[in-house]
Amino acid sequence: MLFRQRGPRQALRAEAVSPTRRGLLALGCACCLGALPIGPAAAQSPDVARHLAAARAAAGEDLRPWLALGGAATPGNAPGPSIEALMAQPAPPAARAFDNLAFIGAKWVSAWALTTSDGIILLDALNNEEEAERLIEGGLRKLDLDPARIRRIVVTHGHGDHYGGATFLKQRHNAAVVMSEADWRMVETELEFDVPQWGRPPRRDVAVGDGDVIRLGDTGVTVLSTPGHSPGTISLIFDVRDGQRSERAMLWGGTAFNFGRRPDRMQRIESYIAGTRRAKQVAARENITVLLSNHSGYDEADRKLQARQPGRTNPFVIGQEAVQRALTVIEECALATQAAWRT
Ligand SMILES: [Zn+2]
Repeated sequence: MLFRQRGPRQALRAEAVSPTRRGLLALGCACCLGALPIGPAAAQSPDVARHLAAARAAAGEDLRPWLALGGAATPGNAPGPSIEALMAQPAPPAARAFDNLAFIGAKWVSAWALTTSDGIILLDALNNEEEAERLIEGGLRKLDLDPARIRRIVVTHGHGDHYGGATFLKQRHNAAVVMSEADWRMVETELEFDVPQWGRPPRRDVAVGDGDVIRLGDTGVTVLSTPGHSPGTISLIFDVRDGQRSERAMLWGGTAFNFGRRPDRMQRIESYIAGTRRAKQVAARENITVLLSNHSGYDEADRKLQARQPGRTNPFVIGQEAVQRALTVIEECALATQAAWRT
């Protein structure tokens, strides 16, 4: 309950990020408040330096935004922007990333609509009712999609920037909310993060676990359990189509290491690291060529949406090798953070 300990008037801060790239300060999520940066005086241990170097090597030039995850292990990083500043950023226009996948998110937290033969599977529900109405419903209409066709609302993890608009949409469109058992339990008992700007948690509809397939019409979304960011974070695997081409996509369900000084933070980051390793194996086996995030600062969704042009290579398709490298960046940043906490 880090937020409450800080007092209601103190500006809430998002995760500290690396200053190495323009735009990184716009990253993060409000549920990253607990990511305590190492102070300027802290020496960087050889283990931390080794893992951060491995992350940079894996990132190359094309995947640098994911390096922001190393911010919590980097000495001297300044706190990120406040949640008010993050939420005030103008949203990118709603647009299709693929023929069957639309971006209808805010600037710093994303929502995606996967269209099927029997309605829409919404992937995350933004911060609150106002954003759900303006960005999700408004975005769908702009793309000639009917919000009344939302049938499932999949929440990747139980933090309010992903479930905040779920109750409003569920009630308005009679859709079922889907979340992992562990995160249902968390939001039903004690929220690990909360701010007044977030809608209240939805009531339980469907609990899913590793390997489950969320089916709607002609579409299946496979659940991959990747706990760590929250107790029951899930990542999602599904097909995306672009004209005649079909690609396999993974939506990484929880990014930052927002554990603060919580007593179980070492177990949480161990789970996170194990999740990245498993995700790499699954991504190789399933030939995942698209890696999406629920924060566009990592996958650069807003830039890629603008760059997508008919007949040209879809910028969201980065290829299997780059997906593996991105997951390595995430893993190495987690290992660096773990090493920083040990010293
Ligand atoms: Zn979160």
